[in-house]
Amino acid sequence: MIYLDNAATTRVCPEAAQAALAAMTEDFGNPSSRYAHGAAAAARLQAHRAAVAEAVGCLPEELVFTSCGTEGDNWAVRAAVEHGKRKGRHIITTAIEHAAVLEPVRALANQGYEVTWLRPDRQGHIDPKDLAAALRPDTVLVSMMLVNNELGTILPVKEAAEAIRASGSPALLHTDAVQAFLKVPFTPRDLGVDLLTISGHKVRAPKGIGALYIRKGLKLGPLLLGGGQENGLRPGTEPTAQIAALAAACRAWLDHREEYTGRISNVKNYFLESFAAALPQGVVVSPGDAPHICAVSLPGYPSEMLVRELSDRGICVSSGSACHRGRPSHVFAATGRPKGELLGTLRVSFSPESTPEEADALVSALAEIASARVSAR
Ligand code: PLP
Repeated sequence: MIYLDNAATTRVCPEAAQAALAAMTEDFGNPSSRYAHGAAAAARLQAHRAAVAEAVGCLPEELVFTSCGTEGDNWAVRAAVEHGKRKGRHIITTAIEHAAVLEPVRALANQGYEVTWLRPDRQGHIDPKDLAAALRPDTVLVSMMLVNNELGTILPVKEAAEAIRASGSPALLHTDAVQAFLKVPFTPRDLGVDLLTISGHKVRAPKGIGALYIRKGLKLGPLLLGGGQENGLRPGTEPTAQIAALAAACRAWLDHREEYTGRISNVKNYFLESFAAALPQGVVVSPGDAPHICAVSLPGYPSEMLVRELSDRGICVSSGSACHRGRPSHVFAATGRPKGELLGTLRVSFSPESTPEEADALVSALAEIASARVSAR
């Protein structure tokens, strides 16, 4: 199998798998238990939190573990508007957020919140001036992702923080950094955000673990109610195996960060060059600012058909997170590019394991599919 859909999920790295196994079979204590086996689990939990915090670039006490990126995004959106409930009911976000932000924002819109949706240009970039113009004294939340999951574009989160500060708006700033984490350099403090979401399975940890960064000093309520875990902010017995694995995946990535970034972007650039050379009718919809994601299109070839035909050849790529029933995904559609181009858009995303040979195999398969179609006409 040739797996080039690493923005969807990644293979768990050996370090993470070993850490999870040890946490499940040896160090399986409940961190809340009062005897030594539990206390040891609690101590390990704090060490793992410190490792993940180092990768995020924040203090350990600013990180709360969640079950996934979706939970972190939902929590951030709901808690931020609750935090600002006496200040206003206006939210700003972008039209290209992941459903994990779009849907809770839509739910708030249905409850009477006013939402300003910032639209991208044809390349998938958001103009920070649009955000500055949309800010109001009653804006309580700005949620802007750091890296778009379908186009690989980087959004102007730091500029958003500056605009909020300059305007005097009380808005809290949340960024969904699920696709940015470990792939592009940032710290929450440099970005100037109050809340930031990550997810483990995009960085070679297992599915079922994520974290929300909450800026020190910001008091937010929990999403779930229950026991006192995570300082009462995220009740539920801590998933110690997933947390151990996330910490191990972060340590492994940090140990090779420059090498991984170089390798991933080299393979992506090589793919884009080979694609352009072999398929002159092809369009690069987005070369991606982030090292691991790009989007290409074969106009006239529906992406769902391409994904199926590539799958028959053992190659996994994505048609975007929601390219359904002849309609382009909301992200591709928001760029306003021609429909024929959008319907043939594929997202190709790389990991440190990806090789130029895999990129070659994808380009050859696309060229073969295109020429078979031409000769069938
Ligand atoms: N946000 C972005 C940008 C994503 O790409 C994803 C997953 O595809 C999520 C949020 C949701 O993360 P999870 O799958 O951990 O719930």
